[in-house]
Amino acid sequence: RDVEAADSPESPSVTYEDVGGLDDELDQVREMIELPMTHPELFQALGIEPPQGVLLHGPPGTGKTLIAKAVANEIDANFSTISGPEIMSKYHGESEERLREVFEEAGENEPSIIFIDEIDSIAPKRDDTQGEVERRVVAQLLSLMDGLEDRGQVTVIGTTNRVDSIDNALRRGGRFDREIEIGVPDTEGRHEVLQIHTREMPIADDVDLEQYADNTHGFVGADLESLVREAAMNALRRVRPDLDLEGDEISAETLETLEVTEKDLRS
Ligand code: ATP
Repeated sequence: RDVEAADSPESPSVTYEDVGGLDDELDQVREMIELPMTHPELFQALGIEPPQGVLLHGPPGTGKTLIAKAVANEIDANFSTISGPEIMSKYHGESEERLREVFEEAGENEPSIIFIDEIDSIAPKRDDTQGEVERRVVAQLLSLMDGLEDRGQVTVIGTTNRVDSIDNALRRGGRFDREIEIGVPDTEGRHEVLQIHTREMPIADDVDLEQYADNTHGFVGADLESLVREAAMNALRRVRPDLDLEGDEISAETLETLEVTEKDLRS
């Protein structure tokens, strides 16, 4: 399962339950990526080729990586990560070599998802900003994608914050020809994300998450996650002076008194 060439070889443990406020987006992901992998016969019977590349685009911290990991985990697919900026910092020829390795390993471990984070740094629009290295790396990526068999057992997911900053050659048929926008969550979405990230927290009864969802306009998933993490840290700071941290393990009774309150969330 390990893909040596990947930045972080892993089989992610996130599930669809961990993704908040993106029901429609998740539905599209499942149709474009999950279904061809689990039921290729449907696509064969209909005479259509499953997508080989899907672009997830939207602002930072909205859950693009999370969704990709969730789909890989749900269908038990091998997951290899390539970081756009990191691969571009390699020495001459190494970037292409790395891409080839990842694609090769993915092919040997089907079903596989190849996740290319910040793909715009590999394949910026072909204008003056695209130098010799980018041209070579894009050419390599395109040829690897063209070489994928069309059974849908290897899918490449690319992410970007700006979809129109990507080389158009990458968005042609048979490459990244599907796009899903992962936007900033609305109130209901924020509520779902807050619920997910407080699932394991001892939240006090006076805390009204719906109200926090109302008051956090413009927050993305990552912001909401740090908001509740910070609240839990505030709860810890509140009780810390009263704890005997030099002694034995803190007792279960004491741990049970830990609580994240309204005030912890506000400060
Ligand atoms: P970037 O463009 O910066 O790579 P991203 O869209 O890939 O951002 P993620 O890495 O998926 O963002 O999000 C960072 C963290 O924020 C996630 O690990 C998760 O804990 C939290 N998060 C973001 N979006 C959501 C969401 N929709 N539901 C639940 N948690 C979320």
